[in-house]
Amino acid sequence: LQAPPAAERLAVIDLDALRHNVRHLVRLVSPARVMAVVKADAYGHGAGPVARAALEAGASWLGVAHISEALALRSAGINAPVLAWLHTVDSPFAEAVAGNIDLGLSGWELESVVAAARELQIPARVHLKIDTGLGRNGCPPDLWESFVGRALAYQEEGLLRVVGIFSHFSVADEPERPETDLQLERFRTAVAVAEDAGVDHEVRHIANTPAALSRPDSHFDMVRVGLGLYGLSPFPGQSPEQLGLQPVMTLKTTIANCKEVPAGQGVSYGLRYSTAEPTTLALVPLGYADGVPRVGTGGPVWVDGTVYPVVGRIAMDQMVIDLETTGIAGTGKDLVGREAILFGGAGLPSVDEWADASGSINYEIITRISGRVQRRYT
Ligand code: PLP
Repeated sequence: LQAPPAAERLAVIDLDALRHNVRHLVRLVSPARVMAVVKADAYGHGAGPVARAALEAGASWLGVAHISEALALRSAGINAPVLAWLHTVDSPFAEAVAGNIDLGLSGWELESVVAAARELQIPARVHLKIDTGLGRNGCPPDLWESFVGRALAYQEEGLLRVVGIFSHFSVADEPERPETDLQLERFRTAVAVAEDAGVDHEVRHIANTPAALSRPDSHFDMVRVGLGLYGLSPFPGQSPEQLGLQPVMTLKTTIANCKEVPAGQGVSYGLRYSTAEPTTLALVPLGYADGVPRVGTGGPVWVDGTVYPVVGRIAMDQMVIDLETTGIAGTGKDLVGREAILFGGAGLPSVDEWADASGSINYEIITRISGRVQRRYT
């Protein structure tokens, strides 16, 4: 039985903020185009609404990891160009070709895609990926020339069209590191090799959010931005506001219980926290089943203008705040029903604070917010 998610736990998605971020990025990288990366359900924000808002605000492409994610966009009636770049031998290549989905290819997939195109009598749209240093997908540089040659031979046969050439950065969020220059150099070489061989591409693309924001020399014809769309900063120490971005997701609920306890009251599984003095404990009904990291003890919760750290272990459904931890007298308060906000935009605790408390990164915090939390679009 699948009950509809109740609204007691909400991820409010501010599509105006998203559109602002897209317009900001579009202006910043123009004349290069913007691909809105909406994989993983738009980093937890909801792929359909985010894709539509991003396209309205000036993004011209969509990017996802899996073909299934691209097909879901098509099923939602979204007809913009979509690129999917991560495949397995079981991936639905024929559905992708039939659905006019662009496919990022690193090597072996070329023959699978060509087989689907031959069967369907529809040329596949492909982007050839070179591994410039990340060591994940992408054709190794020493095999690039022959990979390009194979693709061009199939293009001659009318089985595919090489729409793009692309790569992905490894350390663009650490601008002081030299590897980004090296990757750019390798990318330029790969593009030149492909062009010399006769590839007549539409788009060359390598930049993610940090490169889009900090390396104009990496923009080429298009940037693929994820994190920036969602209004978060890829640079530790630089806030979204400093980058002209507005956080899009607010995670909130209401206090479920509130009670006075004596000094020495243990809190949550393992009793890893004990109250120092008589105090009031308030129960926040969000836990790791909602995607809040179990290890996020100390993470901030905003209630009535005060920010309280989570005390004790975060459980599957709930976590606790101690109203005395702020130094503002918390005893005697009854917060049941008051709004509790884990993170949001200006003036609220940030996704970055939850990432720090959890030993993680802002990408993971937003992407993990589970289906048990209702998305509400404003
Ligand atoms: N391009 C590829 C291939 C990716 O895997 C990702 C996300 O990890 C992105 C672009 C977007 O990266 P970011 O969220 O840093 O903009």
